[in-house]
Amino acid sequence: MLKSTLDRIVRSHRNVTSSCSISISSISGVPKEKVDCVVIGAGVVGLAVARELALKGREVLVLDSAPTFGTSTSSRNSEVIHAGIYYPTHSLKAKFCVRGRYLLYKYCSEHNIPHKQIGKLIVATGSSEIPNLHNLMHRGIQNGVDGLVMMEGSEAMRMEPELACLKALLSPLSGIVDTHSLMLSLVGEAENHGTTFSYNTTVIGGHIQQNHLCLHVSGTKTLENWNRKFPLQPEMILIPKLVVNSAGLSAPALAKRFDGLRTEHIPPSRLARGCYFTLSNTTICPFRHLIYPLPEDGGLGVHVTLDLNGQVKFGPDVEWIDGVDDVSSFLNKFDYSVCTNRKELFYPEIRKYYPNLKDGSLEPGYAGIRPKLSGPRQSPVDFQIQGEDVHGITGLVNLFGIESPGLTSSMGIAEHVATRFFRG
Ligand SMILES: Cc1cc2nc3c(=O)[nH]c(=O)nc-3n(C[C@H](O)[C@H](O)[C@H](O)COP(=O)(O)OP(=O)(O)OC[C@H]3O[C@@H](n4cnc5c(N)ncnc54)[C@H](O)[C@@H]3O)c2cc1C
Repeated sequence: MLKSTLDRIVRSHRNVTSSCSISISSISGVPKEKVDCVVIGAGVVGLAVARELALKGREVLVLDSAPTFGTSTSSRNSEVIHAGIYYPTHSLKAKFCVRGRYLLYKYCSEHNIPHKQIGKLIVATGSSEIPNLHNLMHRGIQNGVDGLVMMEGSEAMRMEPELACLKALLSPLSGIVDTHSLMLSLVGEAENHGTTFSYNTTVIGGHIQQNHLCLHVSGTKTLENWNRKFPLQPEMILIPKLVVNSAGLSAPALAKRFDGLRTEHIPPSRLARGCYFTLSNTTICPFRHLIYPLPEDGGLGVHVTLDLNGQVKFGPDVEWIDGVDDVSSFLNKFDYSVCTNRKELFYPEIRKYYPNLKDGSLEPGYAGIRPKLSGPRQSPVDFQIQGEDVHGITGLVNLFGIESPGLTSSMGIAEHVATRFFRG
């Protein structure tokens, strides 16, 4: 019944309309359905959560506004398995990165997901950067990252003949993963344990009833056809015992549409686009390790990433961008364009550690957008995982600010959500 109703919603092309708030009185007559767990968002984090809940015997329904899984940030990143060096000690980012990295390598090995523990060199190219490199090593050790080695530049340059640096921090636990294969495997396992996936299905808001969140759901086509003149109506109301808002870039905007959730619990969100350029005119990969400069404001610096096919990409840079309205964000109408002119900024950054980079060798690649909770020149903000203890609504978990290292942390976050909030 539920699946067929959702399928009908998805197929329908009705022109329904919206405003920013949905009045509860206007939703009588809309089909309602009780369900066990709903995960909003089929990115790598939502998928990992869905799988974990399904393995624990829960009945899970995953809703995503897109036609398939992983079309947003989860397919627009560096695909790096981070060791856990950068993040403040005791932060959720440090905790879930270290735990998630362990779980991810184990999962990839056990499920034949293409991945490689190729290691990373974080490099200091000026003497003023050397104290920061030592600080990073110290922080990494405090976070429980094993195997870190501080190297003289000469030693690192023997390992990587194209590299130029004064000192380098070797992180042997860092690696790369084929994110699409990972997500495909998580979907398959979740489905095998009874999870239902409903794509082209958008959560447009919700209201609180008996201290539980009721979700307002609409077909994505309906939203795309919405003329914005009339209030948006849900086509179905789901009454779940448990809801995980894992809507990535849209998670805060969606939470603002949960009528009855106090806005003080919804952090201000900022967006930072990161563009990649690929290396053309060469068949030989200049590096064997991931090469990272020291972190910059808002990101980890324009680094060298290798994918599992040996393709080299540089990025992502940091460009603070304006948001879009909430409904556009649910439809992933963000600006992912890569401005070719930005390559002029990339050449000098890359040449600090790769001086032989030839003119004309950078080609525009792709862009991703970081769902940040702090803005330019502000201290980075940690992941926010809010359950009833924070906002008082039974069975609702909001995941806010799941930027890097969200891919690495996905299975750690999933384990936490399933054990901390969804016992029994
Ligand atoms: C440039 C860049 C580089 C990165 N590099 C790395 C890296 O190397 N290593 C690492 O560990 N992490 C990295 N990250 C971070 C990582 O990519 C993210 O943390 C992770 O992909 C987030 O996954 P998610 O499932 O939370 O969100 P998403 O992948 O964004 O998924 C959210 C899903 O929610 C759906 N959705 C949105 N609104 C609604 C709605 N209203 N109703 C229904 N569905 C909805 C969307 O369609 C989407 O599928 C990087 C991020 C960026 C931007």
